[in-house]
Amino acid sequence: MKKIIAGNWKMHKTIPEAVQLAGAIAENTDVSARVVDIIICPAFIALNSVSEKIKETEISLGAQNMHYQENGAYTGECSGAMLKSAGCKYVILGHSERRHIFKEQDWEINTKVSAAFREGLKPVLCVGETESERDTGLTNNVIERQLKTALKDVDISNIESLLIAYEPVWAIGTGRTATPEQAHDAHEFIRQLLYAMYKDASQSVPILYGGSVKPDNAHDLLLQPNIDGALVGGASLKADSFIELVNIAATE
Ligand code: PEP
Repeated sequence: MKKIIAGNWKMHKTIPEAVQLAGAIAENTDVSARVVDIIICPAFIALNSVSEKIKETEISLGAQNMHYQENGAYTGECSGAMLKSAGCKYVILGHSERRHIFKEQDWEINTKVSAAFREGLKPVLCVGETESERDTGLTNNVIERQLKTALKDVDISNIESLLIAYEPVWAIGTGRTATPEQAHDAHEFIRQLLYAMYKDASQSVPILYGGSVKPDNAHDLLLQPNIDGALVGGASLKADSFIELVNIAATE
């Protein structure tokens, strides 16, 4: 499976800054992009401009969230069709900041995942435990609940468009990273859950690791079996570190 490096730019970068960053990444990853799938996920407002900037490149565009309805009176929201029209191929769903700050519930994430498939977007479904859940031995229970609920009634025919990101909440934006062993165990567990649900079709689902991935820890993480790439926040905001991560993934 081709490694994937996805950048989640969160609520950073104005439109000109986002276009500049996308341009710098594109200019310096043309060789690695042949062996690594690169996804960048700017804020909604910069999607269209970034899409224009990367349209002749191998880089793909993703959004950070979407609404599950096709349209309607949902002030401040964006539908899947809108994201597609802005050039998106992917959409991050169930990110821990959406779950914890914006109180997104498992059922809601399930409706968003289904809506993403309906609109022809590839969901990057995020799952992961908090620190207290890990400390009380609940890591696998949480992952299982989040994964099974988010994929409830998702037909096997959609599975080839699915990506999972395992993102332990205690490692996101904290500078703490899961050890390669912790990440490996969680990824193996996710792989088993997917297999139980979708049998052989599940083998094509990439499982990304996310949580303070940086150039100096990426190599050991990406070496692990079942770690198919990384979802990167902080280190995706600077061209140099993101390009370095892409180059590291290209050598794995
Ligand atoms: C993320 O936001 O998905 C993330 C993993 O952030 P960071 O790399 O900054 O921990």
